[in-house]
Amino acid sequence: MATTGVQPAPALMEQVVDGPTGYTGVAATPEWAEEIKRLARERNATILAHNYQLPEIQDIADHVGDSLALSRIAAEAPEDTIVFCGVHFMAETAKILSPEKTVLIPDQRAGCSLADSITADELQAWKAEFPNAVVVSYVNTTAEVKALTDICCTSSNAVDVVASIDPEREVLFLPDQFLGAHVKRVTGRQNMHIWAGECHVHAGINGEELTEQARTHPDAELFVHPECGCATSALYLAGEGSFPADRVHILSTGGMIDAAKTAKSSQVLVATEVGMLHQLRKAAPGIDFQAVNDRASCPYMKMITPAALLRCLVEGADEVHVDPETAALGRNSVQRMIEIGNPGGGE
Ligand code: SF4
Repeated sequence: MATTGVQPAPALMEQVVDGPTGYTGVAATPEWAEEIKRLARERNATILAHNYQLPEIQDIADHVGDSLALSRIAAEAPEDTIVFCGVHFMAETAKILSPEKTVLIPDQRAGCSLADSITADELQAWKAEFPNAVVVSYVNTTAEVKALTDICCTSSNAVDVVASIDPEREVLFLPDQFLGAHVKRVTGRQNMHIWAGECHVHAGINGEELTEQARTHPDAELFVHPECGCATSALYLAGEGSFPADRVHILSTGGMIDAAKTAKSSQVLVATEVGMLHQLRKAAPGIDFQAVNDRASCPYMKMITPAALLRCLVEGADEVHVDPETAALGRNSVQRMIEIGNPGGGE
């Protein structure tokens, strides 16, 4: 259970408004920042923020990164409460890897259209059709789906994970069809079935758009961060030749920040969620970072507002629960991935 008894900040808490798009009404002022730090100390909590969070949430966090790197930080953190500023499946993954800790998400309504594109019941039915197949799931899945999975993968290691499987065994790959198509093309594997899921938020990064960007920015490099569904279509399209291959860099968060510091180009196009631009501009202020698609903003990620974070720390809510048996099965599928190596993404 979450601890209670933390003294709220009455004036700020009175400003919190709960609406259909989340909690609003509180600005990220120095007073708010001081209050967040004080409340986190009182709760013995560490604040983790995904790269696609609002800039003010990234700036107040103790650690910023991608979902898997943050889950591993959560497991090693000395604090016994984790405040996960990201979407729900990410907080669940942190709970799966740290079952003894209290994991809070500032607004549990922050979902993910890609994770929602396959349910545990749908996966059960698919497995029944291919009883001998090995199930490989991208990390953007619910805890229940991870529990039915043999090996998880990230975009960085999906090819290695599929290549590690006995060529005679069929593979069920889910839920991202773009990542699945990319892996099938690279591995040449024919006995691989791909679930037709996608991130509806970012289906807008398309081939024509990427080709047009390459034409109108002839000196720019392209950074593709493969940790979120929005980038996997760009990953696929870059492989199709929509952007000249020598200017495409498929990079984890950490790799992207390092590459930004040493980049020779004065302009870099970034094919991922727009929140990533904040970290890149901080790392390399001399480079003009532009989004390939400036509409690529995840509304679920942006539900973690200053008001939501304040309410979370005051009330100890929303707490993330994963049934212990589901967590143990899900943990196995994540650990099998880590054993294969190169889980990638920000380390
Ligand atoms: S950008 Fe897409 S894949 Fe990423 S969290 Fe949002 S809905 Fe999910």
